[in-house]
Amino acid sequence: MFEINENYLQLNESYLFNTIAKRIEKFSASHPEADIIRLGIGDVTLPLPPSVLQAMHNAVDEMGVKETFRGYGPEQGYAFLREKISEVDFRQRGIDISPGEIFVGDGSKSDTGNIGDILGEGNVVAITNPVYPVYLDTNIMRLGKSSKIVLLPCGEENGFLPEMPSQRPDVIYLCYPNNPTGTVMTREQLKQWVDYALENRSLILFDAAYEAFIRDKEIPHSIYEIEGAAACAIEFRSFSKNAGFTGLRCSYTVVPKVLTARSAEGSNISLNGLWNRRQSTKFNGTPYIVQKAAEAVYSPEGQQEVREMVSYYMRNAEMIREGLTEKGWTFFGGKDSPYIWLKCPGGMDSWTFFDRLLQECHIVGTPGVGFGSKGEGYFRLTAFNSLEKTEEAIERIKNFQQ
Ligand code: PLP
Repeated sequence: MFEINENYLQLNESYLFNTIAKRIEKFSASHPEADIIRLGIGDVTLPLPPSVLQAMHNAVDEMGVKETFRGYGPEQGYAFLREKISEVDFRQRGIDISPGEIFVGDGSKSDTGNIGDILGEGNVVAITNPVYPVYLDTNIMRLGKSSKIVLLPCGEENGFLPEMPSQRPDVIYLCYPNNPTGTVMTREQLKQWVDYALENRSLILFDAAYEAFIRDKEIPHSIYEIEGAAACAIEFRSFSKNAGFTGLRCSYTVVPKVLTARSAEGSNISLNGLWNRRQSTKFNGTPYIVQKAAEAVYSPEGQQEVREMVSYYMRNAEMIREGLTEKGWTFFGGKDSPYIWLKCPGGMDSWTFFDRLLQECHIVGTPGVGFGSKGEGYFRLTAFNSLEKTEEAIERIKNFQQ
């Protein structure tokens, strides 16, 4: 009999969004008239910007003509896109990241999930609690529930930021602006982590999927804004949330050439080389038409359209913040992030508050405990619904009787 990867049996049932769906279904069945507003979704709602759409149409036409048809592309991404990313996202911001250090992918979920392929099983891996579940689950898939996976508690007492670990981790996952808590790290705070990683020869896996939502000029958009970070960090970026690519699928991962590790026999190994090997073996590239669409994000019109989309969502975030402030409820985030991390009023636990908000206001959010034990007693609201629905939701929340 063949064996399975038994580590999969150790994963927690992925019950969060299933349970939410079931509870909504049950409620809707008994209240068919209820107009439910979803403020729990992490998916965008605005359509693709016009210049992105036009570029994609053009690329589709190219694919239908013999002379311009494209088959397999480079596994690392087309040069036209890697050059734009290098120029606009990095060099124009004073960061020296070259096209050869950029790998275009089909989503940060895949890349943050797959990066473990190039890392050894002996590493101690630090992951925050609460967390975007992909980091934890993909490590359990690789290692099983192991004492090598260390959780860094992020509570209200430290502004939902992790403290420096007491035990030295080899690999540290950081995500800022953070999902689910909406918190950000200042330049000084991120510098402490970079210095720690350099001193301890640890690797930081930095997920910057929400960098476009940063408003405060003091908050770094990239870990490479911090001196020395190229020697200790891999960064993940996505077109999903800034440009509406959640259904189209495009992302990129930066693996600097100066980032090296020591092999068991003592030679210096380039992580850029390892990731390149991994990608060229297991991945055949993001579709040409999707990369052309992503390239359009970097045109002057594309940049303007994306800025407007992000501003639209951030107006919703501001509206939620104002409504909750008026209500006198405690919350975090929503300033440089589309996520608002609400402390459940009256000391309610996450699921009790979920049920009451659904039943009394017909609003759906995400129970914080679904992102880890330290999320218990908190609740995630998102800015991704329409302005009208968000406005309506806030009016309803004002009438919530504690
Ligand atoms: N990283 C974080 C922190 C996210 O919240 C998400 C999506 O919700 C992703 C990555 C996945 O992004 P993508 O659509 O690029 O796979």
